[in-house]
Amino acid sequence: MDLERLTAADVCPICGGMGWVLDSADGRKLAHPCICRASEAARARLSAAGIPERYRDCTLDNFSDNNASLTRAKTLAREFVDAYPAVDAGLLLVGPSGRGKTHLACAILSEIVTTKGASGLYVDFSDLLMKITTSFRPDADFSKESVLTPYAEAELLVVDELGAAKPHAWVLDVLYSLLNTRYNRKRVTIATSNFEDEVAPGSGEREKLEDRIGYRLRSRLYEMCLLVSLKGSDFRKDVLGTKIRSRF
Ligand SMILES: [Zn+2]
Repeated sequence: MDLERLTAADVCPICGGMGWVLDSADGRKLAHPCICRASEAARARLSAAGIPERYRDCTLDNFSDNNASLTRAKTLAREFVDAYPAVDAGLLLVGPSGRGKTHLACAILSEIVTTKGASGLYVDFSDLLMKITTSFRPDADFSKESVLTPYAEAELLVVDELGAAKPHAWVLDVLYSLLNTRYNRKRVTIATSNFEDEVAPGSGEREKLEDRIGYRLRSRLYEMCLLVSLKGSDFRKDVLGTKIRSRF
């Protein structure tokens, strides 16, 4: 039984799991940190980022871009990852459901956390609202600061499905102040949403982003993020749209 465990265990072949490599020079012992420490730290950061199980294997490479707008989104995502942390703004990925917004956001998050040594955090918008609401209850187990601090502090934050739930005005105020804190500290935020500034024909949505999250929060997000539209499979319309956007 023990043998089986040993062979299955993921032990570093260089240091045998010690994390240190011992050397000797002129009869003196020298200890160097093993290279596996960096990859272990990267794995720990990735698991702390809280990416949902079904999106953990999402990468930019396995993002399927079968139309011009998705190819453009993938290119922007690649440029964003390569430039990070030297980026001016976060990203606001919008478009109808099923276009891969969450895939793209999680792929960016996991690559940056793994390769750039940044701390990152994923949160579903509805979960975040619930956390805010419960943390403000008088009988809450945790203080509101302890609940919100990780989201304010994370170097990179992904807020998924923005507008999926419709928050109370006071919850919106808390959210606004959270994003504002991030903005002032130059922390980067990526958000995804099915809601756009105009209701897209055939999208099935009746409300605009502003109707869901209010004018103030919507404006702050537009200041903090570069808008990236992930559209449907209407190739001609998308190509035309891309040209129009890039020319002016
Ligand atoms: Zn090692």
